[in-house]
Amino acid sequence: MARFIFITGGVVSSLGKGLTSAALGALLQARGYSVRLRKLDPYLNVDPGTMSPFEHGEVFVTDDGAETDLDLGHYERFTGVAARKTDSISSGRVYQNVLDKERRGDYLGKTIQVIPHVTNEIKDFISIGEDEVDFMLCEIGGTVGDIEALPFFEAIRQFSQDKPRGQCIFMHLTLIPYLAASGELKTKPTQHSVKELRAIGIAPDVLVCRAEHEIPQGERDKIALFCNVRKEAVIPAYDLASIYEAPLAFHAVGLDQAVLDAFSIAPAPRPDLRVWRDVFDRVENPEGEVRVAVVGKYTQLEDAYKSIREALTHGGIANRVKVHAEWIDAEVFEKGTPSVALEGFHAILVPGGFGERGTEGKMKAAQYARERQIPYLGICLGMQMAVIEAARNLAGIEKAGSEEFESEGTKKFDHIVYHMKEWTEGNRTIKRTAHDDKGGTMRLGAYDATLKAGSKIEEIYGTPSISERHRHRYEVDISYRDKLEACGLTFSALSPDGKLPEIVEIEDHPWFIGVQFHPELKSKPFDAHPLFDGFVKAAVEQSRLV
Ligand code: GLN
Repeated sequence: MARFIFITGGVVSSLGKGLTSAALGALLQARGYSVRLRKLDPYLNVDPGTMSPFEHGEVFVTDDGAETDLDLGHYERFTGVAARKTDSISSGRVYQNVLDKERRGDYLGKTIQVIPHVTNEIKDFISIGEDEVDFMLCEIGGTVGDIEALPFFEAIRQFSQDKPRGQCIFMHLTLIPYLAASGELKTKPTQHSVKELRAIGIAPDVLVCRAEHEIPQGERDKIALFCNVRKEAVIPAYDLASIYEAPLAFHAVGLDQAVLDAFSIAPAPRPDLRVWRDVFDRVENPEGEVRVAVVGKYTQLEDAYKSIREALTHGGIANRVKVHAEWIDAEVFEKGTPSVALEGFHAILVPGGFGERGTEGKMKAAQYARERQIPYLGICLGMQMAVIEAARNLAGIEKAGSEEFESEGTKKFDHIVYHMKEWTEGNRTIKRTAHDDKGGTMRLGAYDATLKAGSKIEEIYGTPSISERHRHRYEVDISYRDKLEACGLTFSALSPDGKLPEIVEIEDHPWFIGVQFHPELKSKPFDAHPLFDGFVKAAVEQSRLV
């Protein structure tokens, strides 16, 4: 049966709980344990699928088709364990499940209450698959004291009581602010945060303290004393140049040891950190640099394209170069020509996106890459844009466009990209209408594709068939295949039934690839996705030309 580590946060949000959890998962794996990481989010959306990337950052999609929090991306990138639908839950989903059960009459006439019905639902979720791993790490979103998070805190408190003694521990992340005026680190907010936790019955076993300045031993001892935590369990967490240093940095300050001690695991197995040393060495000592332009819409928020950012870094790690990615708002091309903004980049990436705004600019970026022979990677909407651009400018279909950019009843485009209303998932037929709910109704999760023999993409993957994660409503229309292939845009991968274009490429180009799925979601620092490895390699070659 698994041991459980509950990770909570206090003082402020955005302290890096997700990253800390992911790094701890990696450290436990390095000691030979199996792990699974889970996120419990207090917001009321049923899942983050309908939230704007501006609000919530990227939506991370699992193989089994769940739209989840971006922290699951961190978990996967650090542990290599593919996340599942059952690794992410929100208050919205918890309440939806409870209310569905109430309507079905499952509660046998009882009054439905937060305790026990909501908390039981949360506890059931936490224990899913508990026999499969050595450690289950459950991160609670938000900060202690948030109104919505209370049922989650209550549930983990109860959970630890339900289990035999010593099977659950609590790890709390806080901030130790530095007051420049007095030149001091302040521990009081941490003391208050722990007090708040203890008031709801949770005593942390390990405290991770984020700080911009070194926390002297004396201050750590003080935190231990006031917060009722062992001295060795007060773990400092400083800012790092690269997130991929986190496992090594946390190990150096004793995080994994403190966790194993809290479980009374002795002697602890020795860690094997060679993979992380190699990753960090490659990040620290690049042998060159390439510049990649990412032409998108949600460019203001760092987290909106989190996985793409990371996958580019992984491509750099694989090729021993630093990838300098610059985010450019596609709308800037709609007025002027892209050449000014795109001059000097060694590769261009157009990521996924929704809605018409910025799409003409994305097409201009694709055209620029195609005509100037600059490596291009189009992801999801980025592939659709490349296809529409080729249809307009190579195949002469002037009104080529996507059904996504038309309001109902108006037809301004020839639908090179159309709204798919029926498709097969295994042996099920899925049907959709334009009036369906927006949440969870896309082609979501892992689907297979068959690669064309002898294509560039087959060489990149080195296998004839692949499985990749999808998240989209619209598809390139296969009936335009002959026309587009005649102009040099090859449909080099299709769904196994041959109906849905999955990858396009231009043969007569150093590296021009569009994919209908999201390869960035499966890339790891220690195992870069072949497309990002190949894309960065092509950028390195381009950098030698200019
Ligand atoms: N908006 C497009 C679609 O729904 C592309 C989605 C995406 O880029 N993830 O098909």
